Amino acid sequence: MKNITVIGAGTMGNGIAHVFAMFGHKVSLADISQAALDKAIATISKNLDRMVAKEKISEAAKNETLANISTFTDLSEAIANADLAVEAATENVDLKLRIFKQMDELAPKDAILATNTSSISITKIAAETSRPEKVIGMHFMNPVPVMKLIEVIRGYATSDETTKAVMEMSKGLKKIPVEVNDYPGFVANRILMPMINEAIITLYESVAGVEEIDTVMKLGMAHPMGPLQLADFIGLDVCLSIMRVLQDGFGNPKYAPCPLLVNMVTAGKLGRKSGEGFYSYTHGTKDWIVSDNFKS
Ligand code: NAD
Repeated sequence: MKNITVIGAGTMGNGIAHVFAMFGHKVSLADISQAALDKAIATISKNLDRMVAKEKISEAAKNETLANISTFTDLSEAIANADLAVEAATENVDLKLRIFKQMDELAPKDAILATNTSSISITKIAAETSRPEKVIGMHFMNPVPVMKLIEVIRGYATSDETTKAVMEMSKGLKKIPVEVNDYPGFVANRILMPMINEAIITLYESVAGVEEIDTVMKLGMAHPMGPLQLADFIGLDVCLSIMRVLQDGFGNPKYAPCPLLVNMVTAGKLGRKSGEGFYSYTHGTKDWIVSDNFKS
């Protein structure tokens, strides 16, 4: 699978493009926004500079990686020669269903169509296409160039052949793929989000404060960051929407989102991206703690 199309050039899309290009694939990066594409190339370039400075890659490897990436605002051009297309657009069901319909119409008939969704059913997305056996989840973790895991999610109709090809391809990116089945939250978010939600309930019930809860989990469980700081980093709106997927998908009250989480999202306190969540980021201090934690 030489030619890779990445759809969506945001936080995840630029990281996914970076990793494929670094391992010699020709990457067509597509987004509806030219500004997002420009920002993605600037981010990839900055992250590659950091790798050169740390002597992880050479200057020549950086230049080859950048030369492997082309950008497009027209999906039909970007996907025309794809062997594998990875969709990493905004997490919205209707949008993803629409994009997959287009991907199916425009990509070569034997191309594999993957999605980086954190929570939307792969089976549902696959049902929009004429090739559900070739549709699969490739759930990269943030930040993509640093994190080793890819959760590979088989939809109801995903074939063994597609799964094997994606598992092999993931190993070729020096990642560790883990195969899971398509149920709400898959494995990562089914376990992570209830833990974060429970940390918020612990705060809501005044069992302890923000720093205390995070310190217990960091020092007691050897987590690199506490669950409330992690929630800020992920985005509280994203955490809430994943809790809703678990609640709707399982119909079990244990997945009800904490009222404090609902209130904070309603008030626009979304975590790092809005400048405030469980911590304040207006002076940049927690920003530094977050980036330090993610230095490899
Ligand atoms: P983001 O908001 O940073 O980027 C989304 C990009 O998609 C934007 O640049 C937007 O312009 C683009 N887009 C929207 N509609 C499009 C279309 N029709 N065609 C092409 N591009 C389009 O989002 P993100 O955080 O990178 O998340 C992308 C996906 O990755 C989501 O499905 C999300 O659930 C998943 N994910 C996110 C994380 C994370 O930590 N951010 C982790 C794992 C998975």
